[in-house]
Amino acid sequence: MGGFSCVRRVLGHYNRVMPTEVDTQGNHGGSPKHSGSGDAVPRPQRPSVYPEPVERLIGELSSLPGIGRRGAERLAFHLLKASESSAMALARAITDIKRAVQHCSVCSNLTDADPCPICEDPSRDRSRVLVVEQPKDLIALEQTGMYSGLYHVLMGRLSPLDGIGPGELTVGELMARLDEPAKNPGGVRIKEVILGLNPTLEGDGTGLYLAQQIHSRGVGVTRLARGLPTGSQLEYVSKAVLADAIEGRREMV
Ligand SMILES: [Zn+2]
Repeated sequence: MGGFSCVRRVLGHYNRVMPTEVDTQGNHGGSPKHSGSGDAVPRPQRPSVYPEPVERLIGELSSLPGIGRRGAERLAFHLLKASESSAMALARAITDIKRAVQHCSVCSNLTDADPCPICEDPSRDRSRVLVVEQPKDLIALEQTGMYSGLYHVLMGRLSPLDGIGPGELTVGELMARLDEPAKNPGGVRIKEVILGLNPTLEGDGTGLYLAQQIHSRGVGVTRLARGLPTGSQLEYVSKAVLADAIEGRREMV
């Protein structure tokens, strides 16, 4: 827990230190003619050097996570050089994910068919539900091939400071699946809910809330194990992870 708040502090520090935006004209602020004080006269906004459609594409691309202005310019030039068919294929793929992909009405997984193929698969153990925060967590777990039950995607986690309560998540839908077997695929009664939330302060808080709600319904609650990552070395592992590993130790024979 302490480790998490430490991470938040560090991130907060970076947010303060890192420049929020690279100069839109590609100038690096290299001019030494800076007063050094906070009351510098704002420079007049120069018109973009790009044709309007290119500038618009750069603007859209740079709003994507992990892509700054420079990266967006590189991608835009790549697309300008690319053949029309490959650029149009990208445009179509973007259109299709917004038109064809939706959330499963049972588990909220991303899908192009409702219910999703996981909920529809009769060979899966429908009495077990693994709760995750986001569809990408479900995909990561599914890729292990080690789990054959169903899922429930919360679409976030409780975060009272950001105004995210149970009503903003799919908690109600999960409880309905527990209360009414008809709302669970195959009409099967859920016997166990496995909490697969991220091991963060908010993930833990969400897990605790859900555990109480589920337990009060007489349904078993477990959570994914925590501890040492395979291939790690004890001396480099954080105290929080070591504490989890000690707490979650298991018998060898
Ligand atoms: Zn589903």
